[in-house]
Amino acid sequence: MDAGPRAQLRRRDMAAAASGAGRCRLSKVGAGRRPPPARVRVAVRLRPFVDGTTEANDAPCVRGLDSCSLEIANWRNHQETLKYQFDAFYGERSSQQDIYAGSVQPILRHLLEGQNASVLAYGPTGAGKTHTMLGSPEQPGVIPRALMDLLQLTREEGAEGRPWSLSVTMSYLEIYQEKVLDLLDPASGDLVIREDCRGNILIPGLMQKPITSFADFERHFLPASRNRTVGATRLNQRSSRSHAVLLVKVDQRERFAPFRQREGKLYLIDLAGSEDNRRTGNKGLRLKESGAINTSLFVLGKVVDALNQGLPRVPYRDSKLTRLLQDSLGGSAHSILIANIAPERRFYLDTVTALNFAARSKEVINRPFTNESLQPHVLAPVKLSQRELLGPSEAKRARGSREEELGSSESPATPTSASQKLSPLQKLSSMDPAMLERLLSLDRLLGSQGSQGTPLLSTPRRERMVLMKTVEEKDLEIERLKMKQKELEAKVLAQEAADPKEKENCSPAMLRPLARRTVTVAKPLKKAVVMPLQLIQEQAASPNAEIHILKKRGRKRKLESLDASEQPEEKAEDCWELQISPELLAHGRQKILDLLNEGSARDLRSLQRIGQKKAQLIVGWRELHGPFSQVEDLERVEGLSGKQVESFLKANILGLAAGHRCGPP
Ligand code: ADP
Ligand code: MG
Repeated sequence: MDAGPRAQLRRRDMAAAASGAGRCRLSKVGAGRRPPPARVRVAVRLRPFVDGTTEANDAPCVRGLDSCSLEIANWRNHQETLKYQFDAFYGERSSQQDIYAGSVQPILRHLLEGQNASVLAYGPTGAGKTHTMLGSPEQPGVIPRALMDLLQLTREEGAEGRPWSLSVTMSYLEIYQEKVLDLLDPASGDLVIREDCRGNILIPGLMQKPITSFADFERHFLPASRNRTVGATRLNQRSSRSHAVLLVKVDQRERFAPFRQREGKLYLIDLAGSEDNRRTGNKGLRLKESGAINTSLFVLGKVVDALNQGLPRVPYRDSKLTRLLQDSLGGSAHSILIANIAPERRFYLDTVTALNFAARSKEVINRPFTNESLQPHVLAPVKLSQRELLGPSEAKRARGSREEELGSSESPATPTSASQKLSPLQKLSSMDPAMLERLLSLDRLLGSQGSQGTPLLSTPRRERMVLMKTVEEKDLEIERLKMKQKELEAKVLAQEAADPKEKENCSPAMLRPLARRTVTVAKPLKKAVVMPLQLIQEQAASPNAEIHILKKRGRKRKLESLDASEQPEEKAEDCWELQISPELLAHGRQKILDLLNEGSARDLRSLQRIGQKKAQLIVGWRELHGPFSQVEDLERVEGLSGKQVESFLKANILGLAAGHRCGPP
């Protein structure tokens, strides 16, 4: 039975409900309350008979009842049928446009509100998942239709004169045998899935292509899809054994103050076939593939059950697919599951399984929220000054009091919008520190004069106390350090004046802190102890080099030279000390910084001590926090220790500096 006018009516209702809910949701989020729930919507699509079979020679085992329900024969009792009800049912004669307009189009607008959305096609192989998602040139499916509309929407919303500028990027990946493979960059290997501090799921190192038109989209998508199809013929229907995930991100930046930014993600997923592979008698690679697929889909079932039963642990991490879908099931997305089923009798058991899974999924509750924060150029001073102003314990205290003030209605597991999290303390600390200091002293002055008016700074009292105390402490510390520096400089100058020859014998332990703290005028050359053989050879070959090799005067070498007859130069092979001009070092650092900010994960892997994992971590951090302002920022990348960063710099700075000296190859 086909979905008729009632279906259209129902779909219109759904669309209206979805858009109404969206408006309400935003305003509630703005008021700082817990985002309202949005149940996962489930639609079932029954495809027509294909491959020459017809209703006449193979009676269908399933049929639609109305625009929301269907029935299927009960194999236990032939007199009975099993009835199912869903948000929408699309019959054999429903068109691609019916499915798109009824179930997918209404959620697209949420992306422009900075919320996430996902569409999953589920069902056994051959039931029409790819037809629904991708379709054909004559009957385009959900993916091309959604992209076309989304790009049109973003063009309109982001037009000159509108408050937000919009950009769209796409990524396309495949999960095959529990490996995450980038279809836009097949050479990149298995990628890791991570979660940021706000509970967003991301894949560092995943290729993101900017798209401004549908032609752009096709230019990237079609070759990547062909990659997958080639795999299908070679690897025995690989395409039905992998999950294909198209990720479209809509990034919005406010053109005027307060310069907010929003990101909405749309996942369009063609899941692997849900058929029970134990019944198909697969062997070898097929069996291995089946195992992996069954793991993913089995865990997907467990996740749905855990969410329905309200279990404390939801096993998202047990498979790559569910980890990726963490946002979409019981997470922050508006989700639609389209269960595809086939009418033929041979599909009967898989159809029952798919319908049962779909029925369980419609109980899952999501809580979509607006993913909003301040743009990096506004946020950068926030991070800096907050870190500068507050020590860890004070920051913790301030955070504690902030949370107290916001109230505890928010469940800890529920991510909140970044704008919600911006407390007056953060707004205050986003100011220029000098300006902040002046305001604080003015505030103190007013306080001491017993002013009864509104406080100059609308900061809660406890946070203001913490801030003022910290600023005072930092001032004192800076003064102390300045004095100490002056003392040390005076000491060094006095020593040099007393005996210039002793300059070289000066204890390095005493010189080093000075050299590090000040860009010293007295000592123009910075020392780095390294032993790169090629550099030494290059140095020997080019007399005008900016790197100078000195003999090492370390104790270790003296101990080695026990034999008095041996000349020191003969032993010095492993003990070179290089002096490099500060400009050269600065150039090396700049080159590293450029690479960190502009290089792809593959470019980063060309650096010493950066493997694939670290490259992905770095790219992921950059995607999240914006460009690195100095190479030391690497320490802020989760998973990189200070020691690792230090050894990374040592290993690379000279090489890149030397590259500069030698000029491009
Ligand atoms: P799956 O991706 O679930 O394995 P496909 O989308 O490849 O299934 O569909 C299997 C076959 O059925 C294809 O030839 C496809 O064109 C056809 N098909 C699927 N759904 C429909 C539909 N609604 N109308 C017409 N043909 C369909
Ligand atoms: Mg398919």
